[in-house]
Amino acid sequence: TVYSADIVIIGAGGAGMAAAIEASDAGANVVILEKMSYAGGNTIRSEGGLNAAETVFQKEKNIEDSVQSMIDDTYIGGKEINNMELVTYFAENSAAAIDWLTSINMDVSDVAQGAGATYPRMHRPADGSKIGGVLVPVLMKNLEERQITILYNTTATELLSENGEVNGVKAVDKNGEELVFNANAVIIATGGFGANEDLYVKYRPDLKGFTTTNHPGATGDGIVMAEAVGADTVDTDQIQTNPTVEVTTNTVISESVRGKGAIFVNQDGKRFISEMLTRDVLSTAILEQPGKYAYMILDQNTMDSMKALQENYEKGIITKGETLADLAGVLEIDADVLESTIAVWNEAVANKNDAEFGRETGLDVDLSQAPYYAIKVSPAVHYTMGGIKINTLTEVINVDGDSIKGLYAAGEVTGGLHGGNRLGGNAVADIMVFGRQAGIQASAYAETKD
Ligand code: ADP
Repeated sequence: TVYSADIVIIGAGGAGMAAAIEASDAGANVVILEKMSYAGGNTIRSEGGLNAAETVFQKEKNIEDSVQSMIDDTYIGGKEINNMELVTYFAENSAAAIDWLTSINMDVSDVAQGAGATYPRMHRPADGSKIGGVLVPVLMKNLEERQITILYNTTATELLSENGEVNGVKAVDKNGEELVFNANAVIIATGGFGANEDLYVKYRPDLKGFTTTNHPGATGDGIVMAEAVGADTVDTDQIQTNPTVEVTTNTVISESVRGKGAIFVNQDGKRFISEMLTRDVLSTAILEQPGKYAYMILDQNTMDSMKALQENYEKGIITKGETLADLAGVLEIDADVLESTIAVWNEAVANKNDAEFGRETGLDVDLSQAPYYAIKVSPAVHYTMGGIKINTLTEVINVDGDSIKGLYAAGEVTGGLHGGNRLGGNAVADIMVFGRQAGIQASAYAETKD
């Protein structure tokens, strides 16, 4: 079956939906292809907020901030390998993204402090909701109002091109039937590849065995399709990981739980490393343990000191034991071994000397306040910084450094903005700033083709 539209957008995450709204408002006829049976991708999982500088909401709250400070923080946080043109466009257009979201009925009026940010600039819903869960329904409602179609269970497989210009997409529907979409412009908004172990191991062999916090559709299809028409990629080996992700729900367990006294033990009930080493070292060490997981062990003191832990306990992802022996019983660890591990650890805390593993921080409180708790964790891929190379117009750049006519990309599928490390709050800002830009630029280009 052959269809046609002014613009075909691949992926109904935040970037794709923002692009669709802008393109439609510019007068283009748009269709979105989504391989899953639902919209939202990784966007719906985002919890924090959207970074933006010099916004109305910051001014209302007398928060001092500047575009330059946002540029500097993003660059320093990104280990100074970011593409500065993208970073500059991003920060300069962040406040406009906040205004735009407000205009389409998205509440981003609360402003919080994020890690790596000099000033509070993480914008989020005032009622404290996680941002993704609010943003995705708002975007979908705006699509409905504009009668923009999302074709679900429709997987784009190939970009079509003629004389070096992209002019359509091949896809398959859930029955395996091939569909062809002819278009004046195509926007790739397929997200990252954090759920595709083959692909991330190809770029980063050391990530073999890592699980993922990503939604199952984050398989990097857009990168593969773009490369097939000559696109260049950047920073594909820059992948954000986390060593402590709860194994049944993929919930990230904050580092501060270790800072506040938790230790790791393996299924044999033994410690195996200083828990305060860097993320990559801890990840490797956990994968070397029986079953490739570790238990974080904490006591009531630590539980009382962190609201996030209490919430995770409510969620049912933390195991409790009235005594260490009880906890060992539930975890099927030898109780004598666990008790002796904790006794040795408590002595290390008392002497401020971890003779076994040389841990130097988080030695302030021991594990002696019953009841005791365990969280089963393993390392996981969280965010892929690298991807398709674009310029500030979101045009896809080929290996010769030229833009590929008719082809645009935005969001986690692209690389360069975040460099070697993404700051919390910059992913949602990325998909709004560059998703909008892709919609605007692609519709302007499509118009020249009519
Ligand atoms: P971003 O944050 O960049 O918007 P998301 O992960 O939120 O990225 O959304 C990307 C969307 O693209 C997901 O819903 C995903 O299922 C979809 N997607 C990925 N690959 C394809 C494909 N080949 N065809 C159609 N949709 C795809």
